Amino acid sequence: NGTIENGLSPGDISPFPQPAKVPEVTHTQIFINNEWLNSINGKKFQTVNPATGVKICDVEEADEADVDKAVEAARAAGQRGSPWRSLDVSSRGRLLHKLADLLERDRVLLATLEAMDTGKPFLHAFFIDLDGSIKTLRYYAGWADKIHGKSLPVDENFVCFTKHEPVGVCGAIVPWNFPLLMFTWKIAPALCCGNTVVIKPAEQTPLTALHVGALIKEAGFPPGVVNILPGFGPTAGAAIARHMSIDKVAFTGSTEVGQLIKEAAAKSNLKRVTLELGGKNPCIVFADSDLQLAVEEAQKGAFFNAGQACTAASRVFVQDEVYEEFVRLSVESAKRIVSGDPMDPRTTHGPQIDQKQFDKVMGLIESGKEEGAILECGGQAQEGKGLYIQPTVFSGVKDNMRIAKEEIFGPVQCILRFKSQEEAITRANSTRYGLAAAVFTRNVDRALSVSSALQSGTVWVNCYNALHAQTPFGGYKMSGNGRELGEYALAEYSEVKAVTIKLAEKL
Ligand code: NAD
Repeated sequence: NGTIENGLSPGDISPFPQPAKVPEVTHTQIFINNEWLNSINGKKFQTVNPATGVKICDVEEADEADVDKAVEAARAAGQRGSPWRSLDVSSRGRLLHKLADLLERDRVLLATLEAMDTGKPFLHAFFIDLDGSIKTLRYYAGWADKIHGKSLPVDENFVCFTKHEPVGVCGAIVPWNFPLLMFTWKIAPALCCGNTVVIKPAEQTPLTALHVGALIKEAGFPPGVVNILPGFGPTAGAAIARHMSIDKVAFTGSTEVGQLIKEAAAKSNLKRVTLELGGKNPCIVFADSDLQLAVEEAQKGAFFNAGQACTAASRVFVQDEVYEEFVRLSVESAKRIVSGDPMDPRTTHGPQIDQKQFDKVMGLIESGKEEGAILECGGQAQEGKGLYIQPTVFSGVKDNMRIAKEEIFGPVQCILRFKSQEEAITRANSTRYGLAAAVFTRNVDRALSVSSALQSGTVWVNCYNALHAQTPFGGYKMSGNGRELGEYALAEYSEVKAVTIKLAEKL
């Protein structure tokens, strides 16, 4: 599946799985205490397939009262002496493995639901989203019995040790671009550290999270350990952010909403906050790089998930000597991308998630044209149904253009020209964001010195979007606070308790 993993052309499609023919949407209610409930206010909302514009189903709409109920369930489930709190740590790990097994069992159905709800190609959902979700669960399953404190040498006749305890009730608010993957990035570290969870999927894409609710119950997690609240941001999401009985909130989405969440957390109970926000990620291509590789990886970065990724490579700085050739090869490559029905295995490019995002991206493309960038290809909405935008390449982009400054979150690659290494570093860093960056060079000294100069939570060298459950992920500057994934995430989901014991005599 090498080419699929890279997010572009699947090549030989024969060995690949087929989507579920008539996908069943069996779970559309609120999941609290391992039970399926209607919303207290009786409201529902539609979820729509962005590839066709056709409604998939109605989903119960959680609001503040449902959040209160979920928090009560989560608090009770995490109490001292509760089945979850008393569970052996190795059994906690086994439950996470069991959940991963069930995701594997339902992989085709989950990938089909994800493709329907987001418009992303089914094979991308199957190979990338499901693979990442299953690996995240298994990675944290392995940590469940390896989270421990230290014994500390202290002065006088004291013994001191630390222990790592759950934070408590963890709220989570996730976006629509990788609904299931972001769901597992939140629940897996939270559960492995012994917390309970109240999680809100994005209103555009609630279906895979709800299906996983059924799997959480089937795996045997006690009631109330995970509670799932489909609903909108300003209602259910804001209720989570300001809740007095939620101890931590983890959010992935826009920087603007991240600021609201941090403010609400500060003004309520000072809950812990981790934020994974936007990016305007630079990709620096030096003249000494493997140019073909750089073209492919940079486009994977720009166009994967129709550009709807916080790591999208939307500013590609290319060194003078290879600039023209890079632009030529990039245009050729962009033209080979196959837009179409997400269920068709040849499709590598889906629609934008909704009208609001579509309009935002088209507006930014217009601004690029008006501000004098050279439109090399694309730039148009695609004919027919659905919210498709052609893969778009701009060259001659200048740092002060809106397309070089704002997060586009659509299939738009901006190519900028640079001369010296120092210039590239300075320009790459001159943004309020600092999520991801990439360097293409065959010179190891340059790779290391540029990596260390870039203000970015992730730096990829001669690759792009290489994410692993073992590797921390998060942003510098306004791209976020804290880290997800890897061992680093455990600290975000644990309280450290120092226990100091006075002894009769010094040991
Ligand atoms: P958003 O930030 O509004 O939505 C993300 C999540 O936050 C959703 O679950 C939403 O319901 C929730 N939310 C919205 N308002 C909230 C509030 N006041 N309180 C609590 N939760 C709230 O993102 P969007 O409007 O869907 O997209 C807008 C832009 O955000 C995109 O163009 C893109 O730039 C960025 N974005 C980034 C990511 C990412 O992965 N970092 C994901 C989605 C969107």
